Amino acid sequence: MPTISSREIHLASRPVGQPTAENFALTTVDVESTPAEDRLLVRNLYMSVDPYMRGRMRDGRSYAAPFALGEAMTGGAVGEVVASSHPDFAPGDTVLHNYGWREYASVHGKGAAKIDPALASVQSFLGVLGMPGKTAYVGLLDIGQPKAGETVFVSGAAGAVGSLVCQIAKLQGCRVVGSAGSPEKVAWLKEKAGVDGAVNYREAKNLRKAIAAECPDGVDVYFENVGGEHLEAALSLMNDFGRIVACGMISQYNASEPAPGPRNLALIVSRRLRIQGFIVSDHPERSADFYRDMAGWMTEGKIHWEETVLEGIESAPDAFLGLFSGENLGKMLVKLG
Ligand code: NDP
Repeated sequence: MPTISSREIHLASRPVGQPTAENFALTTVDVESTPAEDRLLVRNLYMSVDPYMRGRMRDGRSYAAPFALGEAMTGGAVGEVVASSHPDFAPGDTVLHNYGWREYASVHGKGAAKIDPALASVQSFLGVLGMPGKTAYVGLLDIGQPKAGETVFVSGAAGAVGSLVCQIAKLQGCRVVGSAGSPEKVAWLKEKAGVDGAVNYREAKNLRKAIAAECPDGVDVYFENVGGEHLEAALSLMNDFGRIVACGMISQYNASEPAPGPRNLALIVSRRLRIQGFIVSDHPERSADFYRDMAGWMTEGKIHWEETVLEGIESAPDAFLGLFSGENLGKMLVKLG
């Protein structure tokens, strides 16, 4: 059986605390060049690295199964079909699938979705038009339910999800304030995303006061990407009947012990707050609305999106680790082909 040589990243060991390069192994494997029945051979063009993958490096119960030790990691990718044994796909098709972290993927047709490269760049389907974009859309609009004139505060505001939350909130007529970890990100938020205020949380001597200064009317919707000190600060600034969209808490993902909770949780009662977590994959019914609205906003020039792209499968671990040190503006991607 003829084969193609492909490099892929395996999980070499499970990290305790902050992951390091030693937790990953670059391995070369042979992939059959003639796919079995109903399968496709895909040459990956881009792969996504996402914070939720940190949870999958751990061996525990979660909404996404743990990565297996000594096997290739998985995650969102787009690629070109080079051979197909499935009636719905042909060589040359561009597909979205879940077998990233490798150069060539053998994918079952059921796990692949055709994308239209004429609509937008192929990597957009991993970012603004993909899972992070839909997370921003569903999280803000359905869970946060912002109304025109309300104040929306977004942490992790210059990342893949946060940068889009800020702009969708502006499109709803909200006052928007974001926090991010560098002067460049704060400048981007003000100049490109069009937020009304932005805080560099790394430089703020008192995070609560720094956010309060940008939110003179308090906070009606807090879009939570970070957790920890951000959550405590936001809770203290919430207006009565405010909503906290619990999207993620990246500041805690590398903790080796459970982090203490915010000290001011009692405010949930007195201010009649709603805190709701959500997972984007629970909302397939919103996909068509999301594509229609996001593609429309993109075409009308109402949404700016950024990508931080590293090159080559060997840089995938660095791209992933960079999420935890804020190396990315917008979506972090790895270009493979
Ligand atoms: P980002 O593109 O936002 O990348 C992560 C960013 O987090 C970094 O750029 C960094 O920016 C910031 N960050 C990292 N560590 C810390 C820290 N200790 N304190 C404060 N900020 C930190 O990632 P995504 O947009 O993909 O994800 C954003 C959040 O949304 C994550 O919490 C993720 O888990 C969650 N998520 C949830 C989904 C769901 O279905 N609920 C789906 C997708 C994502 P900076 O320079 O500003 O520090």
